[in-house]
Amino acid sequence: MQTLSIIVPCFNEEAVIEESHKRLKKVIDELSTLQSEIIYINDGSTDQTAWMLSKIAANDKQVKILHFSRNFGHQPAVTAGIHYCTSDLAVIIDADLQDPPELIPELIETLKREQANVVYCVRENRKGESIIKKLTAKLFYRSMNYLSEINFPLDTGDFRLIDRQVMDEFKKFREKGKYIRGIISWIGFKQVPFKYKREARFAGDTKYPLRKMLHFAATAMLYFSKKPLKLATGLGFITVLIGIIYGVWILLGKIFGFTHAISGWSSIIILIVFFGGVQLLTVGVLGQYIGILFDEIKDRPEYIVEKEVNF
Ligand code: UDP
Ligand code: MG
Repeated sequence: MQTLSIIVPCFNEEAVIEESHKRLKKVIDELSTLQSEIIYINDGSTDQTAWMLSKIAANDKQVKILHFSRNFGHQPAVTAGIHYCTSDLAVIIDADLQDPPELIPELIETLKREQANVVYCVRENRKGESIIKKLTAKLFYRSMNYLSEINFPLDTGDFRLIDRQVMDEFKKFREKGKYIRGIISWIGFKQVPFKYKREARFAGDTKYPLRKMLHFAATAMLYFSKKPLKLATGLGFITVLIGIIYGVWILLGKIFGFTHAISGWSSIIILIVFFGGVQLLTVGVLGQYIGILFDEIKDRPEYIVEKEVNF
């Protein structure tokens, strides 16, 4: 019989964990053709999540838990789930029931029918999320496609079904800053979309405040695109061109007397500010990439597992 793991990252999800587990459990119990398990990753929660998960796993060997030593973030949590998964298939799903667990059988059916390696879920609409969140998400997925060398499916989160082959390839990725949905697209094989309606969070607040969202977006862009560097170079070229034209103009003006050099205070200030800005910007872009190199070269682990339960 084929096996399935459901990978669920959890950070301070005490308000939803029991309900999520109930619904997930019901879904896997009805999946008679697959032998299933749930892998919860407790990403350094500071509330009752750890305790609740331990209670669930104590009576149920189908439930495995990875407790992180602290909060490492959503992407490292999902990464750990994939690293520890030994099943033929895996579903990545959020703990907050925004991605309905009841869709899992349909995902499996689609994978089998299409003989695909990945079924990725595309959000047709998103309930209960702020205008800002929806707008920034839309903007993010579109600019990612403009910036990166490959095309990513739009409006697709990490909610998806992947097979063994994809997981084995994923394990070969040594980069520490993981943009998982990007990596899986990059891996290739046969990937098919599955449209669904994203629900509102069942309870509790988003664990992705603006700070984490910006970090996530920056990681995605810096790891998947060298275009910011090219844009910086382009900007440099343009300013050099402006500089040359302006220089020639000044020189000719001096010779033929049509510029009044001494009254040029405003133009000097404008040029200093302009070129200063361009220089800082390009140095900043360079700095971002050097920062990434710095992080990668240290080769620190992406996450630290404090305790494994039922593995
Ligand atoms: N999450 C996590 N670590 C974090 C932040 C979030 O494991 O540092 C988990 C969280 O528990 C949830 C999933 O990642 O299962 C998605 O987070 P959330 O629903 O808060 O994000 P949103 O849907 O608001 O983008
Ligand atoms: Mg959510």
